[in-house]
Amino acid sequence: MLPFEHLYSSLPEPLWVATQATPVASPELIAFNAPLAHELGAKEIPDSTTLAEWFSGNQAMPDAKPGALGYAGHQFGNFVPQLGDGRALLLGEVIDQNGVRRDVQLKGSGRTPFSRGGDGRSPLGPVLREYLVSEFMAAMGIPTTRALAAVTSGERVVRQMAEPGAVFTRVASSHIRVGTFQFAAAQRDEALLKALADHVIARHYPDAANAEDPYMALLEAVVARQAVLIARWISVGFIHGVMNTDNCSIAGETIDYGPCAFMEQFDPQKVYSSIDQGRRYAFANQPAIAQWNLARFAETLLPLMREEGDAVVEQATDVIRRFESLFSAEQLRLHADKLGLAAESPQAEALMESLESHMHQGRMDMTATFDALTQYAASPGAERRDALLALTTQPNELTEWLDTWQQAQIASQDSERFAAMRSANPVIIPRNHRIQEVIDAAYDGDFTPFHTLLAVVTQPFDDSVEARRLAAPATENEQVLRTFC
Ligand code: AMP
Ligand code: MG
Ligand code: MG
Repeated sequence: MLPFEHLYSSLPEPLWVATQATPVASPELIAFNAPLAHELGAKEIPDSTTLAEWFSGNQAMPDAKPGALGYAGHQFGNFVPQLGDGRALLLGEVIDQNGVRRDVQLKGSGRTPFSRGGDGRSPLGPVLREYLVSEFMAAMGIPTTRALAAVTSGERVVRQMAEPGAVFTRVASSHIRVGTFQFAAAQRDEALLKALADHVIARHYPDAANAEDPYMALLEAVVARQAVLIARWISVGFIHGVMNTDNCSIAGETIDYGPCAFMEQFDPQKVYSSIDQGRRYAFANQPAIAQWNLARFAETLLPLMREEGDAVVEQATDVIRRFESLFSAEQLRLHADKLGLAAESPQAEALMESLESHMHQGRMDMTATFDALTQYAASPGAERRDALLALTTQPNELTEWLDTWQQAQIASQDSERFAAMRSANPVIIPRNHRIQEVIDAAYDGDFTPFHTLLAVVTQPFDDSVEARRLAAPATENEQVLRTFC
């Protein structure tokens, strides 16, 4: 069905290690992303029994060549020289309709040479979460891996308790991470490191090949993509949860959705992940963490760069510092869109800063606030204004802010502002308690809530009755404050 090619597997071991999937008891298809399959070049889509066999790993897909990828990584700041795909298999790459090479990977398909103590499996809950959240991110235009298929395994996996198992199929621009470079560097084999870097340049950053120093240019390009990505995360309240260097994509996509979550009540220090006890990956820490991860990437590239000694370190450090201005420039643009202001509006930053402080002090839901602001901008009137003010515990303070914002809006009005504002402010995000509801129902064998939620979060700007029902923030009782992977 998918016309596989195998470029990454031509890199030497241990970057790629041939590995077979371990069959599961009785695979059943939960979901298959047919539009994505077509985008990847699939002509005909087989029946769901065949899809379940293929996307559980029970039957090899024609032309697939499964293998596990080696990588290292800093986990919560501590370097682990060998991690690797412990429960994932790269089936191969396909060239999509735009001519872009993309990876197809099974996750939860059994043990690999990199599994260490793990069972190589995935519980159903995290599979459903990754499906929903990654497809929402794609619908928002935020760079991300995609969901191609989800299959239940008919087996149980034991985590905090015994849970149903599942296999997830993910599509990525590539699965090369900062940790892949750390792994190559740790092998102390410069030829291997160079082969990896040249593969990445040819695949993701072909312009870098023509630069005076291709490896410095590679670093610059990766820094630029990560800066844009993290600004986009922040703009929708996304908290990745596990920004280890092995979860930091060289292609600049959101990858490895674990205990991720969207912020509800605005709080820069927000953490949902049950494993982030030091709060290292709190909402507002994410830009600094990405920059730290990129510094680890830069360290691996130093031996390949043209300059030597202090000069190369200084140059690379300058590139890493530029993350901050690139991030700010993207953030400024996004803030202007979220507030419905012209990109060059001098007030955007100050207005956003004070709105964030109002959201924090007034215990406002971030997504609901920007949605209400968008609706108010579309039809200014008492009703919309009251709906917005109803979101805060401090309406008087927000009223003052609203007046200043309206002045700024009038000053930068044009017909495209509203469209830009809506496109930056979704009606719906996949909220924690809704995802939890979907998972609870699925554990009882009912996948209807999953399909319903998927349909609305993949049309995040559509204002339907169903979207409004599922968009509502959690009540005190519904709140899910901890996420697990
Ligand atoms: P993650 O937290 O998913 O980014 O994974 C971190 C590391 O642990 C990676 O090397 C994974 O392959 C590995 N890992 C996670 N879960 C399992 C599992 N159930 N079995 C084997 N390895 C795993
Ligand atoms: Mg990972
Ligand atoms: Mg050199």
